[in-house]
Amino acid sequence: MSESGQSQHRRLVTEVPGPLSRELAARRALALPAGLSSAFPMYIADAGPGYVVDVDGNSFLDLGSGIAVTGVGNSAPRVVARAGEQLTRFTHTCFMVNPYEGYLEVCEHLNRLTPGDHEKRTALFNSGAEAVENAVKYARSATGRPAVIVFDHAFHGRTLMTMTMTAAAAPYKRTFGPFAPEVYRVPMAYPYRWPSGPENAAREAFEQFQMVVERQIGPASVAAVIVEPIQGEGGFIVPAPGFLRQIADYCAEHGILLIADEVQSGIGRTGDWFASEFEQIVPDLMTTAKGLGGGLPLAGVTGRAEIMDSVHPGGIGGTYSGNPVACAAALGAIESIEHDGLLARARRIGEIMTAELGEIAATAEIIGEIRGRGAMIGAELVTGADKTPSPDAVAAVIRYARDHGVLLLSAGTYGNVLRLLPPMVVSDELLFDAMGVLRAAFDAL
Ligand SMILES: *Cc1c(COP(=O)(O)O)cnc(C)c1O
Repeated sequence: MSESGQSQHRRLVTEVPGPLSRELAARRALALPAGLSSAFPMYIADAGPGYVVDVDGNSFLDLGSGIAVTGVGNSAPRVVARAGEQLTRFTHTCFMVNPYEGYLEVCEHLNRLTPGDHEKRTALFNSGAEAVENAVKYARSATGRPAVIVFDHAFHGRTLMTMTMTAAAAPYKRTFGPFAPEVYRVPMAYPYRWPSGPENAAREAFEQFQMVVERQIGPASVAAVIVEPIQGEGGFIVPAPGFLRQIADYCAEHGILLIADEVQSGIGRTGDWFASEFEQIVPDLMTTAKGLGGGLPLAGVTGRAEIMDSVHPGGIGGTYSGNPVACAAALGAIESIEHDGLLARARRIGEIMTAELGEIAATAEIIGEIRGRGAMIGAELVTGADKTPSPDAVAAVIRYARDHGVLLLSAGTYGNVLRLLPPMVVSDELLFDAMGVLRAAFDAL
């Protein structure tokens, strides 16, 4: 990195990865399986709002937030205070054995914050996949129906059921079958790649949805439609305007439950508490995780009281689900978002990133589309009029940025989407600095 490229939290003092990270990599090769991979080779020793520091003392601006988890910042003060205090009192009882108030408080917050003023209930789990699994259990139990409808480009997790619901074969499904039954896939109204043009995406995708439901399954056999209001791993795909509304209306008409998987898009990330709000849909069930625990593992299913109450006592649970330290951390994260104005901040971050990317795109023809909302913005990289995906360019930009002290992630079914997921607490200074590196990365392509 050039001298002028140094800043307070973007500072490289060794080559990347440095000698200490390389030593750990050698130990890792002997202790961990190869199929478990990391996006970056640097081992982390410390972190702060918007940056991480590796074991060699290199400091990187963080535009990934550990995949949309540390939205309120890493070791955010309110999270640390609450979780630390909880650690000194008790670490575990199992909520199914002895309950505690923190769990209840997190559920009350989620019931209050999620869309719709109907009566709600929330149950807590450990991971996004576990929340999605349980949302399906609730939906099947409440409706007495088997089928679950999912979308192209969806990501719902890596357990058997959620892997089945996930779209991409590589890397998530290949060699891991057979898969769970009664999962049906329909097209996503993906404007940028809709064959007959973006203006037709919502209408035609809905027609295809309807055809699959009515001809292949029968609406009376469908328990739920599950959708990410903005698709995450699939490439930050924002469904064509009106598409989710049509799906929601159809579901309501046929007694099908609409599940919004807000594991990535929720908890303030898009500048609203939940991405569903932008399309003004009120899902029957919603899954949350990633940003919820302020960096600790916690997930939730929030839904209509009559659905959630329909399951028999003892039917739902888990040894660790709703761990008291994770609940305390979540209360700190929710408090940060509400009291530190982070929804407005997420919107502002989105404006900055979209404007900066727009300026880069003015000269970088490879940027086919910039999309997303709030602190969840993606750029799809393509070549030629046929929009050939350019995963190599994404890899090159990520590599350049890393070598200049900025961490960003890729996404997309074709691996050709750069995704920007900074923590909502990142300062303007760090964000502009990171966007400057991104600009240089495109110049270097
Ligand atoms: C990450 C993610 C999941 C899975 O969450 P895990 O905590 O990794 O199990 C599910 N759905 C969406 C939309 C996600 O982004």
